Amino acid sequence: MNHWTRALFAFALPLIAIGSAFAAEEPVLNLYSARHYQTDEALYDNFTKATGIKINRIEAGDEQLVERLKNEGAASPADVLLIVDAARLWQAEQLGLFQPVKSAVLEERIPAKYRDPAGDWYGFSYRARVIVYNKAMVERSDVATYAALADPKNKGKVCTRSGSHPYNLSLIGSEIANLGPAKAEAWARGVVANMARAPKGGDTDQIKAVAAGECAIALSNTYYYARIMRSTQPADREIVAKTAVVFPDQSGNGTHVNISGAGVLKNAPHKENAIKFLEYLASNDAQRYFADGNNEWPVVPSVQVANPALDAFGKFKIDPMPIATYGKNTAAAQRLADTVDWR
Ligand code: FE
Repeated sequence: MNHWTRALFAFALPLIAIGSAFAAEEPVLNLYSARHYQTDEALYDNFTKATGIKINRIEAGDEQLVERLKNEGAASPADVLLIVDAARLWQAEQLGLFQPVKSAVLEERIPAKYRDPAGDWYGFSYRARVIVYNKAMVERSDVATYAALADPKNKGKVCTRSGSHPYNLSLIGSEIANLGPAKAEAWARGVVANMARAPKGGDTDQIKAVAAGECAIALSNTYYYARIMRSTQPADREIVAKTAVVFPDQSGNGTHVNISGAGVLKNAPHKENAIKFLEYLASNDAQRYFADGNNEWPVVPSVQVANPALDAFGKFKIDPMPIATYGKNTAAAQRLADTVDWR
């Protein structure tokens, strides 16, 4: 080996080593997701096809994921956290799990009310919190508003899940913002006074109790009812036959909605890829998959989903209140739920 060849090797070999180390590290995105729908597979595959970025996914419940991120701290490999409900997004934000993201694409595509003003999280689909009632037991006009849930005429008729559940905390939080704390407390007290039974189970359990006549009125997120509407099971057909849905407050503020949302994590090792992923979720195709997968509506106004249950619901007036407004009321809502004993 002459002098020049030796020099070339001394210089080039480390470069080759560095090069192959980079090649081995294919572009990835580490996603912690509380969603688990079949259609999400196509959603993630399309992202990888379009960008070459592979998605490593960890799926668990919202609370488990937040707990895991707390424990992992700065060493967390996670880039993006995908969870549901303003109350939970607010909690993750309070824990300092997110970093603010600025993106012209996201700001242009997603209406301001569906995202955090600081850019900590962005909503990608929305669901409404509606009233499901037994058609043989109450009139539609008896359940046209959230206020009706607390009206003495509906005593002994209401079923709900726990007031401490994020879905109800968000609703209580929006009542606090709409009515003020004193009237919101009186409302929640009225809801508790009207209960047919102590809160138990999830939204689907409340719908079933309404169909069975155990109660006449229940609160539910739209996608639980939509799932039953789209089912061909005889038991589900019977539930749909006996019940109906009201989008509350159509003559007032409009119906309370909530979101599925995601944010880039503070210690994201692949921040650029994480932002690309959020921007992808706001694209037309991804919006359709994302919303349709759980019978929800896309947040991007121009995107339409062909979903028979959502079509059957029709258009409705949405409470224009920003998601962040009642997200911030989560702690106050929890205190209020405790005060009125909405367990
Ligand atoms: Fe749910």
